[in-house]
Amino acid sequence: MVERNGNLLGWPAVKGIISDLDGVVYRGEAGIRDAIQAFNNWERTGIPYAFVTNNSTRSPEDVAEKLRFFGVTVTPGRIVTSSLVAAQMMKERWPPRTPVFVIGAPALNNAIAAAGFEITDRSPEVIVMGLDRNISHRKLCVAVDALLAGATLIGTNPDLLLPTANGFELGAGAMLTAVSAATRVRPIVLGKPEPHMIETALQRLGTPRESTLMIGDQVATDIQAGKRTGLYSVLVTTGVAEREEPGLSPPDIVIDSLTEIPT
Ligand SMILES: [Mg+2]
Repeated sequence: MVERNGNLLGWPAVKGIISDLDGVVYRGEAGIRDAIQAFNNWERTGIPYAFVTNNSTRSPEDVAEKLRFFGVTVTPGRIVTSSLVAAQMMKERWPPRTPVFVIGAPALNNAIAAAGFEITDRSPEVIVMGLDRNISHRKLCVAVDALLAGATLIGTNPDLLLPTANGFELGAGAMLTAVSAATRVRPIVLGKPEPHMIETALQRLGTPRESTLMIGDQVATDIQAGKRTGLYSVLVTTGVAEREEPGLSPPDIVIDSLTEIPT
């Protein structure tokens, strides 16, 4: 516990940081200055950090490049995407060469192929669904056929809607819900608020749970994921944040700028 400005704040001794990206480091195409300064500062002072994103359409290399554009120098190894977590979880459960059908972006396809699975639309045993901006009725029918024949359904992330500059676009979770409703097959869902991605990031950092922060701009995803994994959960108001949502665990602390974090 540290005391600042006469207020008792429950900050732990911060040894590691796991952070969301959109709404925390940048908002759409604009960098958030304080956040960029904070991450560069942690890079200099040797506080380990990792970024976690539900976005399955970008590889860690793509994300690192975007961050470099905003002035955050980061290696791809610090970035955990939902595609990566899907591939990793599948490797733990299915043998190499298992036939898998992927509905998703090239980044998801590549992650699944790199994990040693055979990508095919013929008798797949696993269906993996992420955001696919070229989704088609045929792809959905391949998935449905396989699921009715007993295949397992995996969703990279549950997001129903994604904020855009002009409103929203349909998220991966919406298509996942459609396929699940049609087949009555319950999916295994990864991404925040599920804990898998945070556990992966935590393993990479190697820092103790109780002194690692989970930073995000959304209570329903970032904060719940942090709470489920036992991390000190920090809501930052630079994104689309509601400070509290009914029925959900509130953040441990709400801040307006990452420079407020005592490290
Ligand atoms: Mg966000």
